[in-house]
Amino acid sequence: MAIEIREVNKSFGEAAVLRDVSVDVTSGSLTALLGPSGGGKSTLLRVIAGLERPDSGQVLISGRDATRLPPQRRGVGFVFQHYAAFKHMTVFDNVAFGLKIRKRPKDEIRRKVEELLELVHLDRFAARYPAQLSGGQRQRMALARALAVEPEVLLLDEPFGALDAQVRKELRTWLRRLHDEVHVTTVFVTHDQEEAIEVADTIVVLADGVVQQAGAPGDIYDNPASPFVMRFLGPVT
Ligand code: ADP
Ligand code: MG
Repeated sequence: MAIEIREVNKSFGEAAVLRDVSVDVTSGSLTALLGPSGGGKSTLLRVIAGLERPDSGQVLISGRDATRLPPQRRGVGFVFQHYAAFKHMTVFDNVAFGLKIRKRPKDEIRRKVEELLELVHLDRFAARYPAQLSGGQRQRMALARALAVEPEVLLLDEPFGALDAQVRKELRTWLRRLHDEVHVTTVFVTHDQEEAIEVADTIVVLADGVVQQAGAPGDIYDNPASPFVMRFLGPVT
């Protein structure tokens, strides 16, 4: 397992947002965290990233207990719905940023960034500024930037959420292809059933802070564990 979440609980004040959540994320998988709004998806992702400390339970990343590690020591990269790019930096420099602060040699940085921009089909846009990109291109830049430091785990919180339906569809296919090439363990949050079914190899259904079901998309679709999952994932009638 690349990520093991063991009986994690998290409350904000009186509200129990994660309740005894246990999830295994297989190394190299593309896992969707799927559920209705307010169900605890972002909180769980932030717990994995180390941006939120669980009240109890454990987070293991690549077999190490990461529960008390700060975000920068967990080997995770993340991309959020509203990605904050450095506006005054070119696409190249945005992607290079993490490598520069790690003081990698210049020629290594150039090689790596060019390779990544090619991977996300932005090689022709290296000299542009974020404002000159479309929303979809900007999210692809964000992915390249997250991948630059070779994370063990990539966390995406509704990465395409702010984009229109057509672009979302394109990015889905594109995320799938990217994952097939890079094989980095990826957890992405979505409230969109179709997106999860189409892109993920594993789906974890999270609602009301509780894991309702986890498995391959086809298995969940064919054998929903509860009326809730059936309604949430079933065909629209
Ligand atoms: P989702 O991503 O599935 O929509 P969230 O994890 O963002 O769900 O939120 C789950 C619940 O926790 C919501 O009711 C939300 O209002 C609450 N919540 C999330 N973060 C905080 C916080 N920092 N302080 C207080 N309540 C929070
Ligand atoms: Mg959320």
